[in-house]
Amino acid sequence: MVDVKKIKENVSKVTNKISNSKLPSHKHCRICGLSISPNADPRVCKSQECLDQHEKNTRNEKQMRIWMFIFFGIFAFIFLSSILRQIV
Ligand SMILES: [Zn+2]
Repeated sequence: MVDVKKIKENVSKVTNKISNSKLPSHKHCRICGLSISPNADPRVCKSQECLDQHEKNTRNEKQMRIWMFIFFGIFAFIFLSSILRQIV
């Protein structure tokens, strides 16, 4: 006879094992992709190369944002002045 209870027990054991074997929550270094602690801030590993690269990226992003702001300001100025000229 097949013991259904035992089979069910074994199945639940196996599924528990699978769900337990899942990786704990973690993040990856933005630069090299190495696993790091989920609380890491900034999202890079402790290697100096990655820290330097991350700093460079942040600086570039900041500079980019400033340039975008300047361009947006110029376009807004041209747009507004052309509207004002039409009104006056
Ligand atoms: Zn890294």
